[in-house]
Amino acid sequence: PPGKKVLIVYAHQEPKSFNGSLKRVAVEELSKQGCSVTVSDLYAMQFEPRATRNDECSLLPTGCLHSSEEFKYHVETWKAYKRGDLSKDVIEEQKKVQEADLLIFQFPLYWFSMPAIMKGWMDRVLVQGFAYDFPDCYDSGLLKNKLALFSFTTGGNEEKFTKESISGDIRYILWPMQHGIMHFCGVKVLAPHICFAPEFVSEEKRKEMVTAWAQRLNTLWKEEPINCSPEWYFK
Ligand code: FAD
Ligand code: ZN
Repeated sequence: PPGKKVLIVYAHQEPKSFNGSLKRVAVEELSKQGCSVTVSDLYAMQFEPRATRNDECSLLPTGCLHSSEEFKYHVETWKAYKRGDLSKDVIEEQKKVQEADLLIFQFPLYWFSMPAIMKGWMDRVLVQGFAYDFPDCYDSGLLKNKLALFSFTTGGNEEKFTKESISGDIRYILWPMQHGIMHFCGVKVLAPHICFAPEFVSEEKRKEMVTAWAQRLNTLWKEEPINCSPEWYFK
């Protein structure tokens, strides 16, 4: 609906890819609804995925303020966040997250997970004090009142991702991403959108999958979040 803000965090190297098409139709469809859509195209941005000492102290020419001899990334970035002293690229992503009502993560499945560049976005952007705190995590996480949706593609076909088959239920893969990251930060999770094996189906089937995604987005704002608890994943 008009006024809703969506951030699409997108990880594919090739604009002509199937993921590229899914991203493109999402921008089109959501814009048509009157949403304002922002895309973080991580490879195009050459997003830095590594959590290093460089993530703090941009204001200090002489180096880090960190208190002990032993560098602790989560503690230092938490303090840097409070001082407004995280690196610029991280601050920019945090602003986009802060403004968004809905976060869509669009990516190809890499080793049962997200590509490293997207994992690095999670590692660096979702800093303590910004995304969560103690005890402000899970249902009281600092990003509550936002929604997230994991939209991804696989190499394997759907039959490989059932409880009884070799790869196990696809929901096992979603546990770290949906529950461990998003729910931990207070974000409510919409059902994932999975396009199985786009490389190995017919052109016609691929077109159907792209259309199905656009259609889902059409009624997305009426959806209820999943019940993101261990039972949803491992029942
Ligand atoms: P593409 O190859 O870009 O797309 C397939 C075809 O769709 C292309 O021919 C493209 O031209 C065409 N296309 C694009 N747009 C459209 C459109 N609008 N309409 C019709 N056709 C279109 N897979 C697993 O299942 N499990 C894993 O653990 C796993 N680990 C991986 C680890 C690594 C490091 C890598 C590199 C891959 C891994 N894969 C895994 C495979 C990977 O998930 C798939 O290759 C990927 O999801 C396919 O998506 P794509 O966007 O790259 O497809
Ligand atoms: Zn959960």
